[in-house]
Amino acid sequence: MKIVMLGAPGAGKGTQAEKIAAKYQIPTISTGNIFRKNMKEGTELGKQVQAIIEAGGLVPDELTNALVFDRLGNEDCKDGYILDGYPRTVPQAEAYLAFLAENNDKLDHAIDVDVPDESIVSRMSGRRVCPDCGETYHLVVNPPKTEGICNKCGAALIQRKDDAAETVQNRLTTYHDQTEPMISLYKERGMYDRVDGTQPIDKVFEDICAILG
Ligand code: ADP
Ligand code: AMP
Repeated sequence: MKIVMLGAPGAGKGTQAEKIAAKYQIPTISTGNIFRKNMKEGTELGKQVQAIIEAGGLVPDELTNALVFDRLGNEDCKDGYILDGYPRTVPQAEAYLAFLAENNDKLDHAIDVDVPDESIVSRMSGRRVCPDCGETYHLVVNPPKTEGICNKCGAALIQRKDDAAETVQNRLTTYHDQTEPMISLYKERGMYDRVDGTQPIDKVFEDICAILG
């Protein structure tokens, strides 16, 4: 099963992707996590994308497409995967669908976790992430078992630089301008499903499972 998670930054794509991955035993590929790991390790790619990400902009399409297509060639993707945060522009979506067609493959579901902008800001301010394994928490709705510590790997949690209030606004603008227009592309191809992302985490997951079957 191949799934694309859609939705504004902070809508809960990553949270749901991890739950789908555990249930269906397929990997999650988060372009944001890949970029952040490279930034943390100070790789060439990390240095190239850092300023763009911290300003709330988007990494160039060609670079992002090449990175994802390379990753999708890995053995662990052969039975399916979940894309979290990719595609993020109409050209990326077109390139990804062309990549699938070239490989006689198809996308099964594009799931839109729909949350209005007003709710995004509080979600982002409470988000904490693990810099080592990428696990995501929220101070109020999804806190770690021990304050400030990742349940999964024990690392100290951090707040993402791009979750600062002024950057969140830029990211929402980027989303509405460049990412949201992709929705019609998936609708035209009959791959689009929407879930109400304002519901509690487990209810959103229940609705997604009903779509996936
Ligand atoms: P995205 O991957 O879309 O950027 P995340 O999955 O990182 O979003 O979620 C953003 C923040 O909102 C996190 O702190 C997460 O714990 C929290 N969150 C996720 N889903 C919900 C929900 N249904 N209700 C309230 N908070 C949520
Ligand atoms: P995310 O973790 O999905 O919120 O992504 C964090 C940041 O990484 C985004 O705000 C972008 O700057 C960058 N990024 C992630 N995925 C993409 C993508 N598919 N295309 C361009 N930039 C991306």
